[in-house]
Amino acid sequence: TAAVVLFTSDLRLHDHPPLRAALEAADEIVPLFVLDDHIADVGFGVPNRRAFLADCLGDLDTGLRDRGGRLVIRSGRPADEVCRVATEAGARDVFMAAGVSPYAQRREQRLRAALEAQGCRLHVHDAVVTAVAPGAVTPSGSGSDHFAVFTPYFRRWSGQPVREVFAAPRAVRVPHDLGSETVPSRAAVAGVAEGLVRGGEKAARKRLAGWCREGLAEYEARHDDLAGDATSRLSPDLHFGTLSPVELIHGARSAGGPGADAFVRQLCWRDFHHQVLAARPAAAHADYRTRRDQWRTERSAADDIAAWREGRTGYPVVDAAMRQLRHEGWMHNRGRLLAASFLAKTLYVDWRIGARYFLDLLVDGDIANNQLNWQWVAGTGTDSRPNRVLNPVLQGRRYDPDGAYVRRWVPELRGIDGGAVHEPWKLSAPARNLYSYPEPVIELADGLARFKEARALG
Ligand code: FAD
Repeated sequence: TAAVVLFTSDLRLHDHPPLRAALEAADEIVPLFVLDDHIADVGFGVPNRRAFLADCLGDLDTGLRDRGGRLVIRSGRPADEVCRVATEAGARDVFMAAGVSPYAQRREQRLRAALEAQGCRLHVHDAVVTAVAPGAVTPSGSGSDHFAVFTPYFRRWSGQPVREVFAAPRAVRVPHDLGSETVPSRAAVAGVAEGLVRGGEKAARKRLAGWCREGLAEYEARHDDLAGDATSRLSPDLHFGTLSPVELIHGARSAGGPGADAFVRQLCWRDFHHQVLAARPAAAHADYRTRRDQWRTERSAADDIAAWREGRTGYPVVDAAMRQLRHEGWMHNRGRLLAASFLAKTLYVDWRIGARYFLDLLVDGDIANNQLNWQWVAGTGTDSRPNRVLNPVLQGRRYDPDGAYVRRWVPELRGIDGGAVHEPWKLSAPARNLYSYPEPVIELADGLARFKEARALG
């Protein structure tokens, strides 16, 4: 017998419950990845993520070949392709990870219906993409289908049993006669960020080992240090599933200590946003909490939006963050908070415009995490203090006190020592003229006044 394993956001061999179940159920398996037309059609298949995905698929194929198998790749609509491959392989059972995003859930429903129509079964496994499935913990008694506040969710999430971690299989047998498209290559993708990291399970496990050895213990103390760059940088690996969140949680809990605790809490944020989006799919585009904001738009704020995108707002820490995004396809969390707050609150531009731009560039770009973090910052989401506005000068001086992060990403300002780099406009006129760096696009006080008026904050 043969069984199909459909890989989606779980491009790994370690700790892969559907793969393990398929290997127990069948003599031969078809490890399948479908290059999904829909993802390209909706503009989600942007260069940085396509390049990273190509790395991941290449590495998955290599990992399978090392074990006697190979990856089968097809293009099209997943339901059609999986049914076709199941027929070709004579397989009656298909194994996959549970869909977490609204699109993944629809994909799963369509696939189940199509497989059942041809007499096949779909076996879906939870705790593969997220550690705790959306909807698995709900605020009992309140009648709500999801948690709208993080802290009570975290409490309940922390008490959930976490399944054991599964080792990668030793051997995989794949039917010989199944056709496959060639594995995509990063080199064929144009427009990729220069500093984009390499994808794939092997690279991810190397990053993970380095992180556990060198970063985890200090995480709580250093996670907001912009220049120190002391976060795990595992978000692309979690997004593409080259690392398992369950394995990370077990690993961190066994390491113990404040750094590990803080890291597990961040992994919980990931599950939290996924359960919000699963319960409120419209929150991908519409305000989670209606605020009746009259946002500025592409048309009414074209110049400000362009300055923000290009990292020339005149606020050094915001510009540094936006330039890091362009160069690496990734941005430090504190940078994301500052850049997003600046666009949505100081410039008072519709959060969807910023969220779209992030999704176009972020290698970890993820509907749940991106849209709901943007909503959190814009004050339309789950933040219990929706009207706080981050001041980029104070935040810059606090999280980049020596200014090293700014100097790394804004070379025009490299000649300014220390924290003074956060306020180049304070330099005396002759010194100021040495730096070809823009004047601020807006006075912070003006931005704050407009925001307060718009939100009727008195
Ligand atoms: P670490 O600090 O090492 O955290 C470990 C892991 O926890 C991360 O890899 C991530 O999976 C998860 N995590 C950490 N913080 C958050 C958070 N606030 N929400 C959800 N999960 C979190 N994260 C994405 O994965 N994809 C996105 O598209 C995304 N867009 C964002 C947009 C904005 C405006 C903001 C403010 C945050 C966004 N984040 C997003 C969350 C966070 O910034 C990144 O997950 C984090 O910076 C990734 O770096 P890291 O792996 O070093 O994180």
